[in-house]
This record gives sequence, C-alpha cells and structure tokens, in this order.
Amino acid sequence: MINTSYTRYDMNYVSTRDENTQTYTFSEVLLSGLAQDGGLFIPEIYPFIDHETLKKYKTLSYAEIAYTIIEKFVGESIPKKDLEEILNKTYTETKFKDSKITPIKKLYNNIYLQDLSLGPSLAFKDLAMQFLGNIIEYELTKQNKVLTILGASSGDTVSAAEEAMRSKERINVVMLTPKEGMSEFQKAQAGTILDKNIFNISVDGSFDTCQDIVKEVNKDIEFKQKYSIGAVNSINWGRICAQIVYYFYGYLNTIDTVGEPLDIIVPSGNFGNMLAGYIAKQMGLPIRKLIIATNENKVLDILFKTGVYKQETVVTTSSPSMDISKASNFERLLYDCLKRNAKQCGKLMKEFESKKEINLSNLITTLKEEHEFSSDSSTHKDRIKTIKTIYKDTKIIIDPHTAAAIHVAIKNKESDIPMLCMETAKPTKFETTIQESIGTIPKREKGFESIETKKQKFYNVDSNASAIKDFIKDNIKL
Ligand SMILES: *Cc1c(COP(=O)(O)O)cnc(C)c1O
Repeated sequence: MINTSYTRYDMNYVSTRDENTQTYTFSEVLLSGLAQDGGLFIPEIYPFIDHETLKKYKTLSYAEIAYTIIEKFVGESIPKKDLEEILNKTYTETKFKDSKITPIKKLYNNIYLQDLSLGPSLAFKDLAMQFLGNIIEYELTKQNKVLTILGASSGDTVSAAEEAMRSKERINVVMLTPKEGMSEFQKAQAGTILDKNIFNISVDGSFDTCQDIVKEVNKDIEFKQKYSIGAVNSINWGRICAQIVYYFYGYLNTIDTVGEPLDIIVPSGNFGNMLAGYIAKQMGLPIRKLIIATNENKVLDILFKTGVYKQETVVTTSSPSMDISKASNFERLLYDCLKRNAKQCGKLMKEFESKKEINLSNLITTLKEEHEFSSDSSTHKDRIKTIKTIYKDTKIIIDPHTAAAIHVAIKNKESDIPMLCMETAKPTKFETTIQESIGTIPKREKGFESIETKKQKFYNVDSNASAIKDFIKDNIKL
C-alpha cells in the first residue's frame, strides 16, 4: 500500500528496537529521549552527497554547511527559512570566538587538529548543545509547551547544557552533580550561571547516585508528564545531527581536493562524537579510517579489538569526560551492522543490559573491514607525555582528552594520508594535569580569569528521588 502522506522530501525516524518501524518526524524525536521500546531514534535513510556537490561546499561558512547538512535531517518538520535563522544565530563568531567556529591547526606534516572547544563552556559539547537550545526553544514556542531538562553529570555536560539553555523562558534546567568529583573550575563554570531557570543541585553521593535518581524520577510517568521532564544527554538525535556538521567542515578545510582520503581520530566515551563521523562517512564524505581513542576505560577499544561488548566498572582518570562503563550511542551503529534488523538489535541490547556482556565478534570483523574502524587506548602516562611533546614541538597546549587522541594518532600513523584529530576541550579545564605535564598552566581564556572566586549557587537536596521531585514541585512554575 502506498502511504500518501509520505513525500519524497520527508525525513523520517525509526527506533533501533521497533520491529514495526513506526516513523517519527524530526520535531518528535527532538523532544523525546529514548523511544518507548527503549531504543534510540535513527533516520530511516542517510542522505547522500556526491563529490561534485561536495566541491561546491568548499567555500561555505560553518553556518552555511550546518544549514546544508541539518536541513536534510530536519526535512519538512521546520520551514527552511526558520531553520536557517536558527543556525545563523547559533554559529556566530561572538559565541565561538572565531569566524571559522571550528578552525583547523596543523601540528605536524599530515597531522591536523580541529578545534571544537571554542564555545562558552570550553568543550566540544557546545557545538551541539547551542543548536539544541535554540531549536528546542523554537519548537516549544511553536507547540506552546514548556520543558524541564533533568540530567546528571560530573563533567562537561552540565555547563554546556546550562550555557545553552540559560535565560530561555520555556526551559528550566535541573542538573544533579556529585558533591565530590568535579574540579573546582568545572564546579565554578556551572555554579556561576545564576539565571533563574538554572538549578544546580549538589548531591551527597557519586555520579552513579545522581544518575540513579534521574532514572527513578523518570519512572514516575505522571510526574514526568506534569512537569514535562526531558533530557539532553548524548543519545539525543538533535545533538548527533549537529555533530555531523563539523566533520564536513573539517574535511573540506583540511584536504586540497575533494575525493582525497582523510583519517579521523576521536577521543571517545559515549560514542556520540564518533557516531556522527561514521554517519558523515555514510553520507559520502571521503573519510578513510575512523579511529576511536579511549583512556583507561577501554570498553570501546576492547569491543573493536575483540568483538566483545562488556560493561566495565569505571575508573577515574585524568580525562574524566571519557570515563564511561558503556557507550550508549553504539546501539545506533549496531543497528546498521545488523542491516537494520530492529528485532535482533533489541534482543542483543536487552541481553547486554541483563548480562552486561555480549559477543559481537563476527559483526565487528565485518564492520572493521567495511567501514575501516579501528581503536586504541592511552594511559595517564601516555597523555602526560603527549601534552609535553606537543607543547615542545608546537607551543600548543592540548587538554588530556585531546591528548588521548593524539597519542593514538602518532602511534598508529602508517602512511602519508592526512589525519584529523578532534580537540574536544580547552586545557584550562584541567590545570592540575597540565601542571604535572609541562610544569606550568595555560593562560585562562577571557572571562574565566578568576571564576572560582565569583558568586556560586548550588542547592543542597537530599540524595533521593522524592526529595528531587519535591524540589521540582517547589521551584518550577508551570
Ligand atoms: C563528552 C566528551 C568526550 C566524549 O565524547 P563522546 O561523544 O561521549 O564519545 C570527549 N572529550 C571531552 C572533552 C568531552 O567533553
């Protein structure tokens, strides 16, 4: 039967676990986290861009490339003019301190660094989160709705989300952070955001406690609906699609002629960043290798080396934003590997959730051959050494996450094919590690000079779900 409501230009989404492949629009997936069956939303097809068209993009600005790419994923959901306006407002020199938004620096012959961390929170998460803030605000206005973003994080997500949502009238942000675990700088980054729609909650417990509370609150469906509880974690499709953009920009601004191969190295945790690179490649971007770099939390490295996906206990490292026990976004890649068989995908993911381990060796072998994925890891010592070497050779100070990528890049360089490493944070956020490596600390970016001494606001709430619900009831006006 022909579905008449479907036009050729529509972009539809499906859930990675839905055998009936019910479809959703961009606007629908934007405001819902997981699909009802527990799966992740993914486009029904990836748009394809041929080399002739790609050549024409070489002179486009970042905002223009963002429009060209994101427009394909939004489809008919939002009028083109409105989307263009949102993107022009998002990717500005004022916000990202450079007209190129993600400028590229040459480190060595054929090793390049793409700076993704010039945004307001000094981490790459701003690139997606700033877009998300503006597009969610647009949708809420259109649908006359409000949203309470509830999340837990010990790293860069808190300040990136709060910077993106501050002073937005229809959005409130409630972020749970562990009392111990964040650096003074990271604490100050969040705590000094004093807008009245931002609520930083300090929880007496670990990051896991924070995350458990968020999960518990989300189980109360009635409460969730009443307070329009939503999330902006890294599985949010809006974030992934905004991340695809910088792969296109990075490729076009690194190579001379469209068609030349380029290897990409990404410091990885939840696999959101690298997934966007893989999708860019599926869309026709001539990327050769996709190289995953991890720290001591090697879930992804072990998966890509052995084919075993195994949840691990997290160890705290000097690259904390990559400290994960599993890589949530891997499910989207798995779905593609399974030739988009949702039944099988759901079955495997449920098995993983209960047994904490699944063997995918056949799939991973095919995946590595077909898409040229590879992986490697680093230790604290490796990163300290890499920061030192890069500083000595180039005078550039890199952060410990970026160092994880460059360590892997240098170790695995086997040809003249250029490599592009993703710089995911500014070193200022990790002064202790930089001091240990090069004996000095980087000059603070403008506006961050004495951030720890500025006024901060954290709410102390008992560390259980009902206390957090009471807090929301008392503080969020509907
Ligand atoms: C979040 C983060 C990462 C990990 O990115 P994923 O998309 O989760 O793989 C790496 N580096 C920094 C600085 C981050 O903030």
